[in-house]
Parts: sequence; C-alpha cells; structure tokens
Amino acid sequence: MIKVMKFGGTSMGSIDALDRTSSIIAREQAKKAVVVSAMSGVTNYLIACIRDRPETPSVLDYLRDKYSSAAQGMLSEERFERCSQQLDASLSILRGRLEARWSVESDPVLEDAIFCWGERLSTIMLTNILEEKGIPAVALSAEDAGIVAEGSPANGSADLAATHANLSRTVLPLLDKGITPIITGYYGSDRTGRLITFGRGGSDYSGSVIAYGIDADCYEVWTDVDGFMTADPRIVPEARTVDEMDYGEAAELAYFGAKVLHPRTVEPVRKKSIPLMVKNTFNPDGHGTLVRNQKCNTPEIVRSVASKGDLSIIKIYSSEIVYNPALISRLIASVSEVAVNTYAISTSLSTLAVALPTPAIPRVLENLKALHENQIEKMTVKDNVSLICCVGDNMINTFGVAAKVFSTVSATGANVEMISEGASDVALNFMVPSEKAADVVRNIHKTFIGG
Ligand code: ADP
Ligand code: ASP
Ligand code: MG
Repeated sequence: MIKVMKFGGTSMGSIDALDRTSSIIAREQAKKAVVVSAMSGVTNYLIACIRDRPETPSVLDYLRDKYSSAAQGMLSEERFERCSQQLDASLSILRGRLEARWSVESDPVLEDAIFCWGERLSTIMLTNILEEKGIPAVALSAEDAGIVAEGSPANGSADLAATHANLSRTVLPLLDKGITPIITGYYGSDRTGRLITFGRGGSDYSGSVIAYGIDADCYEVWTDVDGFMTADPRIVPEARTVDEMDYGEAAELAYFGAKVLHPRTVEPVRKKSIPLMVKNTFNPDGHGTLVRNQKCNTPEIVRSVASKGDLSIIKIYSSEIVYNPALISRLIASVSEVAVNTYAISTSLSTLAVALPTPAIPRVLENLKALHENQIEKMTVKDNVSLICCVGDNMINTFGVAAKVFSTVSATGANVEMISEGASDVALNFMVPSEKAADVVRNIHKTFIGG
C-alpha cells in the first residue's frame, strides 16, 4: 500500500497544527510520500512583497522568524540548531533570487521562483519534526523529485508521463528503504530548469500528480474542514460534509469555485482511478470525503453548490455568426489565445457570449479587435458577475430541476446573465451579478440541501 498525503497551509500553520500533522503521518502504517504547502499566510506575504518591495533583509527575517518559532516549539535544542542552519541556507538562496528580481522591472518567471519559497521552508521544518519523532524522512524539492511542469508562470501544468518516469527513480526507492520524502507542493520545473507554479492552491494538484507518478493506492488531502462540503462553509454555515462523490462531481465543483481542491486536482488521480480522500487534520478520525470513480446514487438532486467570482461576460455581435459557422470557432480560438480559462460559452443568432476571468478582458478585447475587426459589429463587457455551479449526478435527468433552480434564483432577486446546462452530465452552471452570488448559493442550499 502506497499513499500520498498532502497537508495544506493551516495544517502547517502553528505548533498545534504541526503536532497534529506529524502525529497523523507517524501513525500511518503505509509507505507514504508527503506533500506540503507553505505555512498559512506565507505565499500571500511573498506575493505582496513583489508589489511592495520591502528591504530584502526584512523579508528574510520575517520568514526565518515564522518558521523558526514554529520549529523551536517542536524540536530539541540540538535539532533546532540543525534546522535553523538548514533554514538559513535556504534563505540565503532566496536572497539571491529577490535581488535578481529587484534588478529588473518585472519578470513573472523570477516571481514564480520566489512564490514557492514557503513550500521549501515547510519541507525543511516538517522533516526535522518527523525525525525528532523517530520517523526517517528527507526533504525533497519538486525539481529534485522531478516534477516536470509546462505552461506559463502561475498557470503551469504537469507533464504526467515525464514526472512518472522521474519519480520512479527518485521517490519510489526512498519508500522502499522506509524513508518518507517530504516534497514541496505548488510548482514543478520545466525542461530548461525554470520553476513554474500551478496557480494558487496548487499543492493539491502537486499531490495528485505525485500520486499518479508513483502509482499510489490512495491520495489524501488533509485540510481544515471535515471534507468536501455541500457548500463553502464560510458562505453557508449549515453546510454539511458529503461522504462520497464521483470524480466528475468533485472536478466540476473544484473547477467552478470550491476552494477546498485546486481546480485541476482530480485530473491526474482520475486517470489511474486512484481514490482521493479529503480529511480534516483537526479531526483525523472523522469520515472525510471519498472521491472515486463511482456514481453515488443518492436521492439528493443538488449535492453541492459552489460559486466563482471575478468573472466578466464578453458579448461579441456579428450578423455573420449564423451563416459563417467557422467564425464561431475562430472567435473562440482568438479568445483562448489570451484568456487563461473560459468558464462558459453560449451562442445565439448573432451573438457569442463568453465568460472569462476579469483580469484577462483587456487583452481579449485587443486580440479580437486585431484579428476580426471586419466581422465584429460591436462588443460589450459585463463585469462583476459570478458563476454558480450546482452539482449532482441525478440532476440533469430529473424533470423540472432547472425550473426549480431558476425560480429559487428569481426569488433571491438575482438576474440570470448566462446559462450553461446540458453540457455536463452532472452540473448546471449559470451566471449572476456578483453582489447576489452569496445569497443565491444560500438559497439554493436551503431549497435543495436544507439546513
Ligand atoms: P488548505 O490550506 O488545506 O489547502 P484551503 O483554504 O485551500 O485549505 O481550502 C480549505 C477551505 O476551502 C475550507 O476552509 C473552506 O473554507 C473552503 N471551501 C470552499 N468550498 C468548500 C467546500 N465545498 N467544501 C469544503 N470546504 C470548502
Ligand atoms: N502555498 C500556495 C498557495 O497559497 C499553494 C497551496 O497552498 O496549495 O497558493
Ligand atoms: Mg488549498
């Protein structure tokens, strides 16, 4: 039995959390690879540093202080001394990267190589804590493990085949020797050695990539809630944990806003039918959520609802759309050349509407104008919209569900800006003004899930 166990920011974020995390790892009998995030707040801090440009020594002092004070509470004096030296050695490499970054106007590649520093410090700290408990462990960076990334900064994805080949050489032999590798989450290294992060929350995806890469029997995501819930508990306090989900349901929810899993987490484990568990570090004996390749056949129609903000809808008007079918695909190709992700598409006689992340809008408009000036009559942009994603494997086949969902939305006083139904077997997605999104989620939860 081989497991991958991923611990998020809160599970690394305090002496109490580290005590719980290390006990969970210690009591696990299976061979295991552990993946860690930065301590909570650290990635936000590093991202803010690029904007605010504080003096380099103050950045290093902040990080040294944060990690040392957590480690000190967990380690003997001698081991603390060793851990501090390792943290200092790592921080002196970071100093070089910060100075390189300050010497240029902007450089997203250098920035990614800085944003992942919290994960490096976490591996050093947790490895020492485990060794103190008598568990043989070794800190391993993503590049030393051989997680191969491709794509653009802050939006990388893993090359699964290349990573699989590398991890067979780097990680499996350690497991065979009874050593637990503690691996940095959040990023990989491309073929030229550039470090590329997988986007915010990317350690969930790293763990899934590693589970794929070592053919694990199970991938556990350890976080600060009891599992995948019927809604974000910060929006719906009555939200309950869902015991089981199909890969398709979890993938839709994660992609369309459920922050508990990075949008792409399900992809790698699903390819090899590796079960994924979401568990609570602060309630390790709780049931958690099991995500696997199996329809759940529960009576509920909507099993979970998520929302995603910071989106805009571009509407492209052209009378050619109806008689020039190739135009739609060319317009969509021009949109995706610059937009990171497209969240919904819908067409009518003479318009194409596309929901996109708001920060991508200026570049998309520019590209569309440059490439299709003669065919486009006008374009409009509606900002401040959110996508609502309702998921349930019975939903699409049950009569009258859409009517009930939209009458709930209308009772909330929200206008539906765009609908996408039928494309997915398990999800019904639509867009509403962002100021109504939380109320819509709460009302849908109340109507379909209760509480
Ligand atoms: P970690 O640091 O462990 O990766 P995150 O903060 O990234 O944790 O994700 C866990 C948080 O996701 C929860 O505390 C919860 O507020 C939020 N969340 C959003 N939607 C859901 C959901 N459907 N189920 C569970 N948690 C959710
Ligand atoms: N530390 C990174 C972030 O905050 C990655 C992660 O936590 O998964 O986005
Ligand atoms: Mg997370």
